[in-house]
Amino acid sequence: MGLKFPRLAGWASRRVSLWLLLLALVVALLGLLVWLAGRYESSQVQTRLEHNAGEAAIDIRSGLNRNLQAFQALHTRERTVESWHAAARQMLHEKREILRLEWRDEALGLADFVETPFRASVFERLARDSRQADVGQTCMAARRISEAAYSPSYFLPQSDGLGMEVSDMCLPIMEAGRLTGYTVATYSLQGILGELVSKPLSRGVALSFTEADGTRLALYGMPARGSRVFIAQQLLDLPGTTMVIRMESRLGTPSLFPNVLTALVTAMSLALLVVLFLLGRDMRRRLQAEHDLGEALAFRKAMENSLLTGLRARDLQGRITYVNPAFCQMVGVPAQDLLNQSMPSPYWPPELAGIYQRRQEMRLAGSHLPREGHESVFMRRDGTRFPVLIMEAPLINAVGKHTGWMSAILDVSEQRRTEELSRASQDRLQASARLAMVGEMASLLSHELNQPLAAISSYATGSLNLLQGEAEDAMDSGNAGGAASALLLDDLQLAMRRIAEQAERAGKVIKSVHDFVRRSERVREAVAPQALLDAIMPLVTLQARKLGVRLAVEVDAACPPVLCDRTMVEQVLLNLARNGMQAMQGGDETGAAALSVQTEKLLTLRIRPAASNALSQWNEFAVIDRGQGISDEVARQLFTPFFTTKQEGMGLGLSLCRTVIEQHGGFLGYESACPQGTIFSFTLPVAAQAQARAQPVHQDN
Ligand code: ADP
Repeated sequence: MGLKFPRLAGWASRRVSLWLLLLALVVALLGLLVWLAGRYESSQVQTRLEHNAGEAAIDIRSGLNRNLQAFQALHTRERTVESWHAAARQMLHEKREILRLEWRDEALGLADFVETPFRASVFERLARDSRQADVGQTCMAARRISEAAYSPSYFLPQSDGLGMEVSDMCLPIMEAGRLTGYTVATYSLQGILGELVSKPLSRGVALSFTEADGTRLALYGMPARGSRVFIAQQLLDLPGTTMVIRMESRLGTPSLFPNVLTALVTAMSLALLVVLFLLGRDMRRRLQAEHDLGEALAFRKAMENSLLTGLRARDLQGRITYVNPAFCQMVGVPAQDLLNQSMPSPYWPPELAGIYQRRQEMRLAGSHLPREGHESVFMRRDGTRFPVLIMEAPLINAVGKHTGWMSAILDVSEQRRTEELSRASQDRLQASARLAMVGEMASLLSHELNQPLAAISSYATGSLNLLQGEAEDAMDSGNAGGAASALLLDDLQLAMRRIAEQAERAGKVIKSVHDFVRRSERVREAVAPQALLDAIMPLVTLQARKLGVRLAVEVDAACPPVLCDRTMVEQVLLNLARNGMQAMQGGDETGAAALSVQTEKLLTLRIRPAASNALSQWNEFAVIDRGQGISDEVARQLFTPFFTTKQEGMGLGLSLCRTVIEQHGGFLGYESACPQGTIFSFTLPVAAQAQARAQPVHQDN
């Protein structure tokens, strides 16, 4: 995450500058649009004004032409001065632009004149004669071109202190190709503008005649003021003079929105700006939503990654669509090898794949699952199996459609191991309790048996004494019958001695067991290994004969005496020998295969120093049989108390043997014999070493 922030900040600043650029572009574009619209509007107004100015020039020209025709008509009709005067007066009534109309003879002498009835004479201040030269020039020009000519305009000061700009027109009067005189008309320039230009053209504008340098000569209408004034100029080319018509207008020059187009463009621009703003806001919200979504996703991802429970999603066809890291770790397969995998899954143990597949198909067909979890076995990539608890639930998408299955998978191998351990310790506890009970029983038995054994011993001793007396009597009688009964008595005495010995031995065994159970101090003594064997041989031989087993004894002469609780070690040897002989009885309860006929039932008792050198501190006792051997299953529980494969067995023998040997500091173990059978062996410390090493010899366990 830490790395992402600088990138995000850079991205954000770039976004802001992009937005600013876009905004600037849009504003510039809109400004340009408005300006162009204004320009267009202005050019429209200008064009119209120029057109109007042209029209005004045409109006003036045609008005002047119309006047020319009227002047010519005046002379063709009115031949006398009187009639001319009346007609001219009438004419000036109608044509206000004409200030004065003169009839001059061919020498430019004034025959008659009429002045406009609408104002006082314009030549009041400046006498008409003062302009005689100019009139002459104009008329000369007119005569030269044989048509009307106009003089350049000139200023006529008036009696009211003002003045006016006027222009003279001279029209030669021809009669049958001969010049008879002139018609001279004095035009007011302002009058021309006011009277000859049609009203629609002159409305709302200021019309004026100007000189070439822009000096205004005459004005009609209100002159426009301000900055947005449109001006159109038009040349009025008249014979003899040229005038400039100037049209000024403020018409259609609005200050902000020149016309509808500009208003429309402006409105659209504003709308665009608003849309841009709304878009920006929408974008900001979208970005915020995206950011929130990103955070939610990152949180979900972190949650999934830190989860210890495996998660797996499958579609309705059983294909894996999602697995979390915990699941991949559990089965040891990377996600890309799992995704889109259908059955059989890579983590199914091959031997169970068939069952799983059937179960899966049934489940997919039934489309409903038990709510509670079920146990299964998965396989890691290395082939190890492990138990899992699977909880499945239908996967429902946003529109409520069932799209697959979601499973939570727990690796329960650790749980199983703990359960196993607690069960084992429970078993051990129970075994200990039973052992304690057996101990109590043994102690009780030893107490109860001591007296009968003592009684047997004393009866045997008594019987021996009696037999002793009888034997002496028989010997004394000296006859043949006496000899025979003496022999019988000897046998009986031997039997009685054996009975006494065994009773005594039984007593010792019981005492040892009692001591063992009571954990009282036991007496350790140095015993020659051969002596230990000799003590058990009668019983072993008896059983061997019964079971058809041959016995072999191998005692290394170099074996030093061992320090031990003699009776207990004898019991250990006896127990091992008995187990060995029983193992060679084919088809026993273990169900093991019967021994082959050729194999001789041979039980070897072997005693030798534990190491090959003579200085060994341990002697090794081994009991070797040729039985069916020990299977792995039996081996796991061999030394567990109460484990037995025999019907009448107690299952205590080996566990007690091991306890006894370990109490002596030795080790009891077993290995397979060759070609068949088992070697049970244990070690005991040699007497001299043990005494030197561990004082006192009395051990309390
Ligand atoms: P028990 O003799 O009462 O069954 P043990 O503790 O002596 O109890 O023996 C436990 C089990 O170990 C026997 O039931 C037997 O299955 C197995 N066993 C012991 N010794 C041998 C042996 N030499 N060969 C094969 N199996 C043996």
